[in-house]
Amino acid sequence: MKMENSYKDLSAEIKEVAKKVLAEEDVDQLLGFAQGEFSGLTEPVIIKKAEQAQRMVFTEDATPMLSKYLLEYKEKKQAVVAKPCDTRAIAYYLSEDIIDRKNLVIIGINGCPGLKDNTACDECDTRNPVISDYQVGEEISSAELAAELKGVKYLLEDMTPAERKEHYSQEFARCTQCYACRDACPVCYCDHCYVESNQPEWVEEGSSADKDMIFHLMRTMHMPGRCVNCGACEMACPEGIDMRSMTTHLYHKAEELYDFRPGISPEQPPLLSDFSKEDSEPGFL
Ligand code: SF4
Ligand code: SF4
Ligand code: SF4
Repeated sequence: MKMENSYKDLSAEIKEVAKKVLAEEDVDQLLGFAQGEFSGLTEPVIIKKAEQAQRMVFTEDATPMLSKYLLEYKEKKQAVVAKPCDTRAIAYYLSEDIIDRKNLVIIGINGCPGLKDNTACDECDTRNPVISDYQVGEEISSAELAAELKGVKYLLEDMTPAERKEHYSQEFARCTQCYACRDACPVCYCDHCYVESNQPEWVEEGSSADKDMIFHLMRTMHMPGRCVNCGACEMACPEGIDMRSMTTHLYHKAEELYDFRPGISPEQPPLLSDFSKEDSEPGFL
């Protein structure tokens, strides 16, 4: 976990900014986090009145990607408390034109302190918002971020193809195809997912080693230029399966080969819809 801004200070600032946004901006609702009244857990919440802003918090358990919740209500004008990885997902939505910027008020979190048990936070290279209307917390400087990332290694870097096959065969053997990883992912948002398609039937019903591998390989192949490396997929998995290292590998390959980082700007064309004759063609996996 990173500790640049305390959760307590961020929570206090979020309450104030949320109150202001609900009082002064013409929004239908604000998405954020609150302490569950009965569970005591940090839960996503929708509030509509300034006086409800007192309930809001930001904690090390603020795992769900509120960016994805925006898509549920995209006809409404919404404000959202956005971690930097959420702002990248939002910038990606804007680049694909699936949400209207005029319907968004983004409260971005600077110097994100990260989340408990989320390994993506240890590798996170975007800890300030890439797009926002309001901000809370102190920014982390690029020098500080570079110092924190020095020496970080990614799982697939040193693995041979045979070791990768062995690793993922063991990981996916525990997969029950519950699709919680897909549902938690902010950039898995197709109206009709290929896993539920029966014409053609890409993945047969039921779980087996082959079917699980097909599901994960196909999902991974949908991720180049989309994955913002937030770790929500892995955090959602009830079996503790490592699938993020595959999408993270593509995340780094897109940068290395095409100088492309998903969700860095709303104006950036999606990776797979933009090409030049000079592009390298090494294949991704
Ligand atoms: S991955 Fe998201 S939650 Fe984790 S440190 Fe980065 S911006 Fe924060
Ligand atoms: S694939 Fe995983 S790490 Fe990548 S954007 Fe989706 S949830 Fe986040
Ligand atoms: S959340 Fe875990 S168990 Fe469920 S489909 Fe994804 S990898 Fe498999």
